[in-house]
Amino acid sequence: MNAIKTMIEPVGFLVPAKYWGILMVALAGLFLIGLDQGQTLSTVMGQTAYQQNLLHELFHDVRHAAGFACH
Ligand SMILES: [Zn+2]
Repeated sequence: MNAIKTMIEPVGFLVPAKYWGILMVALAGLFLIGLDQGQTLSTVMGQTAYQQNLLHELFHDVRHAAGFACH
């Protein structure tokens, strides 16, 4: 019985919390880059997703709303 208990114990492999935070920030950044460049939405929108530049347009509009003219 003791041998069976030993077999099902999980392997002691702990990842420090700061590395989980770094991983989440990296994945969020990868997601946002994919969203801006169109890869994230291309599976549902097709080729039009590559031409929208959603984050670029968002920050561009925020720039205008803040009063900084650019064109
Ligand atoms: Zn502009």
